[in-house]
Amino acid sequence: MSAPLLRVENLTAGYGPVPVLHEVSFEVPAGTIAAIVGSNGAGKTTLLRALSGTLPAIQGSITVGGTPLLGVPTENLVRHGVAHVPEGRGVIGELTVDENLRLGGLWRKDRAGTTRAVAEMYEMFEPLARRRTSSGNQLSGGERQMLAIGRALVARPSLLLLDEPSLGLAPRIVDRIMAVLRDLRDRSGLTVVLVEQNAHSALPIADQAIVLSLGRITVATSAAELALDSDFRTAYLGF
Ligand code: ATP
Repeated sequence: MSAPLLRVENLTAGYGPVPVLHEVSFEVPAGTIAAIVGSNGAGKTTLLRALSGTLPAIQGSITVGGTPLLGVPTENLVRHGVAHVPEGRGVIGELTVDENLRLGGLWRKDRAGTTRAVAEMYEMFEPLARRRTSSGNQLSGGERQMLAIGRALVARPSLLLLDEPSLGLAPRIVDRIMAVLRDLRDRSGLTVVLVEQNAHSALPIADQAIVLSLGRITVATSAAELALDSDFRTAYLGF
């Protein structure tokens, strides 16, 4: 297994003084996908917000490639190779699909590189190619999610933080999104932290699975092993 790209140690975070996450520690090796699963209110979104700096941590440390991230403003994360796609997606409705994708490359100096990256997104997410000139407001839920992920990928992050990409989407679209993540890991060594209530779609592409319950890690194991665990299957997969 390769060296950890993301290292989280004793992370405690919450809203105001009351912690929601309690001393969470885990590592994600470079070029792997970690699925964070758990029931409603377990703290998955809170964890992702703390990782992306949108929620300040109460204590603990987060490093990416050895660089401490705590205190780095969210808008500067991209310079450290980190992209965050929040739940609710964050597409700019007034801009076209093409403009939204190009925004992902705004911080890059090379416009040619951005143009290449945008073209790649149209190859990966074909429905977006047909909607280049549509505004964000005109897109379906699935198209918006693909656009939000596409925009994050145009920045060419080494670490992608994704919150519930399957929420409310048709299974066909979810399969497409999961296939893109798996391919990017396999072809480009992308590292992904994937928060999903839908363990059915996350576990098959994940390497590692972390189960959160009431803000604590209760299980951290290989995704394949967790998918076979009978207690987990009963609680989260329903069979
Ligand atoms: P879900 O799948 O429902 O989003 P989750 O595992 O992502 O669940 P969180 O959204 O992280 O869970 O919520 C964890 C806890 O933090 C819950 O008890 C929730 O009520 C609380 N919480 C979430 N957002 C806020 C907020 N903005 N202010 C105060 N408490 C919050």
